[in-house]
Amino acid sequence: MATEESCVNKEEFYKKLGEFYRKKPGKKPYTRSEQEKIKLEIETAKSKKGQKERREYFLLHTYDVYERDGNSFLIKKKLKLQKTIYVICYEDLYDRLYETHVRITNHARLDKMRKYINSRMSIPRPALNIFLKCCKACDIIKETHQPKVKVIQPLKYTRGQIDLIDFQSLPDHEYKWILLYKDIKTNFIFLRPLQTKRASETAIELLKIFLETGAPNILQSSNGPEFVEQIIEELRSLWPECVQVRARRTLQIERSEKNIEELLRAWIAQHKLMRWSLGLYYVQWQKNTNFTENSNKCAYKALFGCEPKAGFGSDNLPQSILTKINEEDDLHLLNLHSNNDGNSAEISGNNYYEHQSIIVENVSREFPVSREFSEDNYYENNSQPLASHMLIGHISR
Ligand SMILES: [Zn+2]
Repeated sequence: MATEESCVNKEEFYKKLGEFYRKKPGKKPYTRSEQEKIKLEIETAKSKKGQKERREYFLLHTYDVYERDGNSFLIKKKLKLQKTIYVICYEDLYDRLYETHVRITNHARLDKMRKYINSRMSIPRPALNIFLKCCKACDIIKETHQPKVKVIQPLKYTRGQIDLIDFQSLPDHEYKWILLYKDIKTNFIFLRPLQTKRASETAIELLKIFLETGAPNILQSSNGPEFVEQIIEELRSLWPECVQVRARRTLQIERSEKNIEELLRAWIAQHKLMRWSLGLYYVQWQKNTNFTENSNKCAYKALFGCEPKAGFGSDNLPQSILTKINEEDDLHLLNLHSNNDGNSAEISGNNYYEHQSIIVENVSREFPVSREFSEDNYYENNSQPLASHMLIGHISR
């Protein structure tokens, strides 16, 4: 921020003021020497007996001379005002304006400055205007205040949509409904199994989502504004710090994603599993990692800022390599495959092999099932991705 000494350049101020009064010389404030002459004229006129000159009448009517501490000042003659209004000479304009604007009123705007000045001194309005325009500190204050206005612009609000999908015809044990939540900005969707379509149950699932990825400002739903109101109320009691509002009632809300049921039925058929409460998460992944028509990136990247991660499966490695890597010890195969892999340095350090026996031991203890999948002939007979097979192995009922 500009310092007090530099926020208004004195030369610049007088240059602009000079330009202004060159066009209107009759309006220019008196200089110091002109004021001295006027004070003498006033004293002379006061002591003059008999008929006075026209100018003398004007001066006596308009001004007076005020004595204070051995000095004399030209003041305005305003009988109604009790206060003494000093007439500021041209040379003193900068100092008096500076004192008022910077030291006394701390960069007050035009109205406040005028109010302060008018009750104490006579400074022409153009001088005040030009002075304020020259103040660099006021420019900075204006700039820093602007972003605050931008923050409340409606376009900046984030929005989320809640849809409930009826799956009562194909229940997965206690689950009969699907919560579809979509972040409108990124198109990222969340799918959750629900036992009921009650707002309280929906709110708890939304709470989990919001506590992981953040909550939007506005909530809307194809299930109507009352449903959203109930959810917001529930959410506020569960998470009081999170404040959200319902979308406009006039807004026509349609289901955000139409093919969820279709994708889910395909998953059930493919895996011969009725446990769609888990299948939902695969459908969610499928939707979020697909490139959308309108943008050149998928919803996953829009939300997380990086390409979807599926372990080594997302690294475009040939199947011949992927089927051979099972343990961290096998990762040297990746180095053989690619010499310019940035991550290879991490796993090929000098002390790498010293730590491997401990890691492998821990991994074997935590995930004993992974051993059986690491048999050489396993992948030759199976074309399913490793992750889904491991899961299905665990979840079969
Ligand atoms: Zn200022």
